[in-house]
Amino acid sequence: MSSTAKEYESLYSATKTHKYSGKIRRYMDLARRTAQQSAFPDYRHGAVLVKGSVRNVSTNKNNYCSFGSRFQKNHEGRTTLHAELGAILGVDRSITEGATVYVARIGKKNNYKISKPCSMCHQALKFVGIKRVVYTINNKIAGSYKL
Ligand SMILES: [Zn+2]
Repeated sequence: MSSTAKEYESLYSATKTHKYSGKIRRYMDLARRTAQQSAFPDYRHGAVLVKGSVRNVSTNKNNYCSFGSRFQKNHEGRTTLHAELGAILGVDRSITEGATVYVARIGKKNNYKISKPCSMCHQALKFVGIKRVVYTINNKIAGSYKL
């Protein structure tokens, strides 16, 4: 395994899986509705930042994201505004610190698809103090990890 692959794996080592119930179902429904507003036909993402009663929703957009580019490694493609970045951009540190971000990706039939944050988003979420990420895997289970 290359050192990059090892590093990538260790970023995500604390993965757990969950059924869609309670809070996770509620916030994933909201993330899914947000994803439906994305203009990308095949790669629709929605993210919801949750801290107490505060919610900030965002979908992926084809806008250049200079904040995101700070966390981008070489050869990682374009720095478009991923949903996770939109959910934290412009949000005060007092809110992002300790918050949870829910990320949903939906397919053509609005089914859930794998939406684990990429390493750029991972680094950015960590930078602003996000505590936990919950992401869709498929229609049956979601995954989560602590940052
Ligand atoms: Zn990303």
